[in-house]
Amino acid sequence: MTYDRLVCANCAAPVTEGRCPVCRASRERMREQEQGAFAGLSPAMLAALLVVLLAALALLAHQTV
Ligand SMILES: [Zn+2]
Repeated sequence: MTYDRLVCANCAAPVTEGRCPVCRASRERMREQEQGAFAGLSPAMLAALLVVLLAALALLAHQTV
């Protein structure tokens, strides 16, 4: 999802330009959400995916043999 075309309800300008405090607040919030999502996703999510993948492989190997 992209926020490039998101228009501020307060000043009717693109939020990315940060023309008013509302824009700047939303922009900061979006940035924090993106960073938080990536920071929380990378290690934990990769580990979980790896476990699921290994379990699926083990199950497949077990069934085919
Ligand atoms: Zn604004």
